[in-house]
Amino acid sequence: MSGDCLFCRIAEKKIPAKIAYEDERALAFEDVSPQAPVHFLVIPRAHIATLNDLGEKDEGLAGHLLAIAARLARERGVAENGYRVVINVNRNALQSVFHLHIHVIGGRRFGWPPG
Ligand code: AMP
Repeated sequence: MSGDCLFCRIAEKKIPAKIAYEDERALAFEDVSPQAPVHFLVIPRAHIATLNDLGEKDEGLAGHLLAIAARLARERGVAENGYRVVINVNRNALQSVFHLHIHVIGGRRFGWPPG
């Protein structure tokens, strides 16, 4: 937990969010500024600032976060047509919240390469 971290505060329910799923290790909530009809974030409860800070001991957690992403994508009906899973890391990727999060974005067609 980090006191000044926005996503820690969401996990602690000190800041409201539309929570789609939660358990003892992770939660998922709607992105406040959706970039597509479906856009939610999956985060660990533990404060891990970036993907760079994920170690071998976190392999189980990483798999858990991806499994949540895939399950919610299925439930939202975007699995078959496809969706994008994005983790922005540090400044070149424009990471803006320094608590690891997986974007799950779907419901429209995307371009490649990303901008
Ligand atoms: P990133 O640029 O990868 O760090 O993404 C941060 C994401 O967090 C952005 O898509 C924001 O729209 C989203 N975001 C910021 N504040 C909130 C919030 N209070 N609730 C939900 N999503 C948020």
